[in-house]
Amino acid sequence: MSARPVGLLGMDEEELVSLCGEMGEPPYRGRQIFSWLYAHGVSKFSQMTNIPKGFRAKLGEAARLEALELDRESKSTDGTEKYLWRLRDGARVESVRIPMRNVSGVMRWSLCVSTQVGCAMGCAFCLTAKMGFVRQLTAGEIVGQFLAARDLLAPGERLHNVVFMGMGEPLDNFDATVKAVKILTHPQANGVSPRRLTVSTVGVASRLKRFVSAVPGVGLAVSLHAADDETRGKLVPVNRKWNLRALLDECRELPMGERRRITFEYVMLRGVNDTKTDAKKLSRLLEGLKCKVNLIPWNPFPGTPFERPDDGRVEEFRRILLAAGVVATTRTPKGSDILAACGQLADAGRLSGRNALKQLNPL
Ligand code: SF4
Repeated sequence: MSARPVGLLGMDEEELVSLCGEMGEPPYRGRQIFSWLYAHGVSKFSQMTNIPKGFRAKLGEAARLEALELDRESKSTDGTEKYLWRLRDGARVESVRIPMRNVSGVMRWSLCVSTQVGCAMGCAFCLTAKMGFVRQLTAGEIVGQFLAARDLLAPGERLHNVVFMGMGEPLDNFDATVKAVKILTHPQANGVSPRRLTVSTVGVASRLKRFVSAVPGVGLAVSLHAADDETRGKLVPVNRKWNLRALLDECRELPMGERRRITFEYVMLRGVNDTKTDAKKLSRLLEGLKCKVNLIPWNPFPGTPFERPDDGRVEEFRRILLAAGVVATTRTPKGSDILAACGQLADAGRLSGRNALKQLNPL
């Protein structure tokens, strides 16, 4: 084992069992530590009360436990909370906790986590893109957002849903994303049901099959944002590598299982992709696909040329999809007053740096 203390957060059960084996402990000890880390979220070895004191002392020398540090917290008038976390190397990422009511009116929390510091995908309407790509998050830093946000819940509350829709493109950080999903949905981690965890991608088509096979049962959201390649290429540069046909062909072949459908995200931008013609083209594109469309009226941030369409236009778009037999919902914007809504996350410190808002890529 290395002389430097090894970080435990982000280790899966197998790695912890193996670490304990190297330290002369039986496999069940690794499983106990797994449960302490993720089900209980302990921050000190002394809290692992079923681990013998002598081994806890050895662990304290060989390993470290580190929670994400809360740098800033913002609260929206609609109850959404945004957390800016400081990581070990000083980099910062955001998570958003969103209040949702189910059909019976019961309040539940959803947590949106980040997978990268910044993002390399360069989507034209997204504030994170203006940071550029800084670095990948480790599985521990992704899971750490869940644990730290869970610590901030009031007694009796729980995080019901988790979405990987924060800063970064999850499939561009494939291994850490898959590992974090497996930890969060592990039954001994007391985490989330796979059905209540969704990973969103901007359309990294070559990794979709591998992802769905690696974490079956987990929700998948694919961002379309346009119904033709010309518009999509301007909004989502990844379209130049995998165009709509390549992406949707891949989606049609995904082993999604009987009951699951892909969610297609569609950010609506006034005069760019919100016309009746766009809605009709979109419904034709999705013909025969088991899916639903989530319309996201664009959430503004300073310095962009885009505008949000009015509610009537969004509803008309949705009705055209429904009439064509495509299930479609409209996402109610949450937390836009604190820049916590979809596409608004960023480390402001990095944005105020060189050329941040000059990197805009208007149509
Ligand atoms: S929308 Fe998502 S993939 Fe596109 S730049 Fe923003 S964070 Fe990256």
